[in-house]
Amino acid sequence: MSDSAPSAANKPRVRFAPSPTGYLHVGGARTFIFNWLYARHTGGTLVLRLDDTDVERNTEASVQSIFEGLRWLGLGWDEEYKQSERLALHRQAAQDLFAKGLAYRDFTPAHAEADDTSSGQSSAQGAWLFNPGMRELSREESDRRAAAGEPFALRYRVPRGQSRTLRFTDSVYGEQSKQADEVEDFALLRSDGMPTYHLASCFDDADLRISHIIRGQDHLTNTFKHLLIFEGLGAPPPQFAHLPLLVAPDGAKLSKRKHGPVVSVTTYRDAGFLAGAFVNFLCLLGWSPKNDREFLTLDELTAAFTLEAVNRANAVINFTEDDPFDPKALWLNAEHLRALPVEQLSACIQPFFEQAGLDAPPEKLLAVTPLIRERIKLLRDAVSAADFFFVKELAPYDPKELVPQKGDAALARRVLEHAQQVLATIPFDTDSLDETLRAAAAQLGLKAGQAFQPIRVAVCGRKNAPPLFETMAVLGRDVCLARIRQALESLQSLA
Ligand code: GLU
Repeated sequence: MSDSAPSAANKPRVRFAPSPTGYLHVGGARTFIFNWLYARHTGGTLVLRLDDTDVERNTEASVQSIFEGLRWLGLGWDEEYKQSERLALHRQAAQDLFAKGLAYRDFTPAHAEADDTSSGQSSAQGAWLFNPGMRELSREESDRRAAAGEPFALRYRVPRGQSRTLRFTDSVYGEQSKQADEVEDFALLRSDGMPTYHLASCFDDADLRISHIIRGQDHLTNTFKHLLIFEGLGAPPPQFAHLPLLVAPDGAKLSKRKHGPVVSVTTYRDAGFLAGAFVNFLCLLGWSPKNDREFLTLDELTAAFTLEAVNRANAVINFTEDDPFDPKALWLNAEHLRALPVEQLSACIQPFFEQAGLDAPPEKLLAVTPLIRERIKLLRDAVSAADFFFVKELAPYDPKELVPQKGDAALARRVLEHAQQVLATIPFDTDSLDETLRAAAAQLGLKAGQAFQPIRVAVCGRKNAPPLFETMAVLGRDVCLARIRQALESLQSLA
């Protein structure tokens, strides 16, 4: 198979097919993104299909949460379907397979739902394969029992005793094969008449003319069953590409039960990842571009993406209990933040101030944004980096912080009193502040760093703060002087 763009009449059609049984998982998001990239790279079509035939496990909340996660990614899709609206088609397909003799009714109560080993034939490995009594039931008896209302599951009649090998070439995992004799007579319809995942998925893939199935590696072994269904439906099987598993640092498969919110896409959104950075991060889990670059825009990812470059090895997401985010994800987010135009970044951080209950007027936030841009990794970090711009009263700090290194409270007082005087009259812009405060330091016989610390702590309430003159210019004269006055008062407690 080649990734080069096919002729217009023959563009790829791919699908993302989540089951709405939980929130959008990082693994699901990666599958979606790889499908999206493949579609966009090849000029093809991306179908979103909700695999919602498992009525007992589906929830509306999960449907909403999947859409919420996908919308946040901001990539979009081209066509949308719900399997629950296609049940009549699935049942008809099952009926057709039955009519062709490729499926049979299984009236065994234990088999009406799931496969088990309670009776029937087993493989060499002991796995249940089929129940001969049911597989060989005459058509008359099968019809009679069905007409009498006896519940049954419909099973695929997997070819037996023919030494048949099922084969496919996976775009990622290469040649795959399995003896048909080792595949159990899997269910197509449950006893409640609902199609199974295997039937609904393959029928829809064929009916929606899906050309490439790009999905998690956990479905690799299902593919042998799917080959049989495509064959039974008389449809050529699509090209398969299975994606390596995402695993936790200890190698365990990522799961919401075990790993909690770190596996949910909205956790990243709520912490202040940019969707573009998150997409970039997920792409590097199991795929890498030829030049091994890591920071990539969506256009660069789209241009570089090929299925052949997907790796087979499990991809590890690094996190700890204290630090839920992979250091590479944080690094990428910081890079993407810095690459944003300041207006856009400012608009992205605004909601985090609102959430924190801080009134951050857009114009002032726009002036603050360049001062903190280099200091944040997550959008939410902007609040702790810049809250002092937007509070009326600084949070209490230890007055000892005002005392410069190799100095004492008296020195801090001298610096602040001097600053108070000179700041009262000068124009309050960055250049004037720079010039005036440097001259003040020299006049007091101090190094700039020594002189600026009391001023920085007085106006910001902390030592670690954005560049001083720019910060003071944004805060304005009144706020700076009021905070210096307060600092002088608090220094009295050190006397
Ligand atoms: N609904 C299935 C899942 O969420 C889809 C698997 C597939 O892509 O075939 O795992």
